[in-house]
Amino acid sequence: MGYWKSVLADNEARRSIAMSIMLSTGVFRSCEYHGDVFLADEFVDPQPAYMRAAWRFKHGEFHDLFESQKELTDEIQELVTEFSWDECPICWKINRD
Ligand SMILES: [Zn+2]
Repeated sequence: MGYWKSVLADNEARRSIAMSIMLSTGVFRSCEYHGDVFLADEFVDPQPAYMRAAWRFKHGEFHDLFESQKELTDEIQELVTEFSWDECPICWKINRD
Protein backbone atom coordinates (compact mmCIF):
# COMPACT_ATOMS: atom_id res chain seq x y z
CA MET A 1 0.00 0.00 0.00
CA GLY A 2 1.39 3.42 -0.90
CA TYR A 3 2.03 5.99 1.78
CA TRP A 4 -0.88 8.26 0.91
CA LYS A 5 -3.24 5.40 0.50
CA SER A 6 -2.42 4.14 3.95
CA VAL A 7 -2.77 7.64 5.43
CA LEU A 8 -6.22 7.88 3.92
CA ALA A 9 -7.22 4.48 5.26
CA ASP A 10 -5.98 5.49 8.72
CA ASN A 11 -7.91 8.73 8.60
CA GLU A 12 -11.02 6.84 7.74
CA ALA A 13 -10.47 4.34 10.55
CA ARG A 14 -9.83 7.16 13.03
CA ARG A 15 -12.93 8.95 11.93
CA SER A 16 -15.08 5.87 12.26
CA ILE A 17 -13.80 5.23 15.79
CA ALA A 18 -14.62 8.81 16.79
CA MET A 19 -18.01 8.48 15.13
CA SER A 20 -18.81 5.23 16.93
CA ILE A 21 -18.00 6.92 20.26
CA MET A 22 -20.32 9.81 19.38
CA LEU A 23 -23.13 7.42 18.57
CA SER A 24 -22.63 5.11 21.54
CA THR A 25 -22.66 8.04 23.97
CA GLY A 26 -25.74 9.52 22.34
CA VAL A 27 -24.01 12.75 21.36
CA PHE A 28 -24.87 11.94 17.77
CA ARG A 29 -27.78 9.93 16.54
CA SER A 30 -28.56 8.68 13.08
CA CYS A 31 -31.67 9.65 11.19
CA GLU A 32 -34.37 7.04 11.78
CA TYR A 33 -34.93 6.81 8.02
CA HIS A 34 -31.40 7.39 6.76
CA GLY A 35 -28.99 5.39 8.88
CA ASP A 36 -25.90 6.93 7.34
CA VAL A 37 -26.97 10.50 8.12
CA PHE A 38 -25.71 11.61 11.53
CA LEU A 39 -27.39 14.32 13.48
CA ALA A 40 -26.48 16.36 16.52
CA ASP A 41 -28.93 18.41 18.48
CA GLU A 42 -27.91 22.03 18.53
CA PHE A 43 -27.21 22.23 22.24
CA VAL A 44 -26.08 18.68 22.84
CA ASP A 45 -23.24 18.34 25.32
CA PRO A 46 -20.33 16.42 23.74
CA GLN A 47 -18.70 15.82 27.14
CA PRO A 48 -19.77 12.16 27.46
CA ALA A 49 -18.00 11.40 24.18
CA TYR A 50 -14.75 12.97 25.42
CA MET A 51 -14.99 11.07 28.68
CA ARG A 52 -15.69 7.75 26.97
CA ALA A 53 -12.83 8.34 24.52
CA ALA A 54 -10.39 9.18 27.33
CA TRP A 55 -11.46 6.18 29.37
CA ARG A 56 -11.10 3.74 26.49
CA PHE A 57 -7.76 5.18 25.43
CA LYS A 58 -6.45 4.88 29.00
CA HIS A 59 -7.51 1.25 28.99
CA GLY A 60 -5.35 0.53 25.97
CA GLU A 61 -7.77 0.86 23.10
CA PHE A 62 -7.09 2.60 19.79
CA HIS A 63 -3.34 2.91 20.39
CA ASP A 64 -2.67 1.56 16.92
CA LEU A 65 -4.42 4.56 15.37
CA PHE A 66 -3.96 7.38 17.85
CA GLU A 67 -0.60 8.30 19.31
CA SER A 68 -2.10 10.21 22.18
CA GLN A 69 -5.40 10.71 23.89
CA LYS A 70 -5.36 14.24 22.56
CA GLU A 71 -5.34 13.02 18.96
CA LEU A 72 -8.46 11.05 19.70
CA THR A 73 -10.25 13.93 21.41
CA ASP A 74 -9.16 16.23 18.57
CA GLU A 75 -10.89 13.89 16.15
CA ILE A 76 -14.04 14.10 18.25
CA GLN A 77 -13.74 17.86 18.42
CA GLU A 78 -13.60 17.92 14.63
CA LEU A 79 -16.80 15.92 14.38
CA VAL A 80 -18.52 18.22 16.84
CA THR A 81 -17.73 21.25 14.68
CA GLU A 82 -18.51 19.51 11.38
CA PHE A 83 -21.85 17.93 12.22
CA SER A 84 -24.43 20.30 13.56
CA TRP A 85 -27.54 19.18 11.75
CA ASP A 86 -30.47 18.84 14.04
CA GLU A 87 -32.59 17.80 11.10
CA CYS A 88 -31.72 15.25 8.45
CA PRO A 89 -31.10 17.16 5.18
CA ILE A 90 -32.63 14.36 3.12
CA CYS A 91 -35.83 14.25 5.22
CA TRP A 92 -35.93 18.03 5.18
CA LYS A 93 -35.87 18.01 1.40
CA ILE A 94 -38.57 15.32 1.18
CA ASN A 95 -40.83 17.19 3.61
CA ARG A 96 -40.37 20.40 1.71
CA ASP A 97 -41.22 18.97 -1.72
ZN1 LIG B 1 -33.53 11.32 7.10
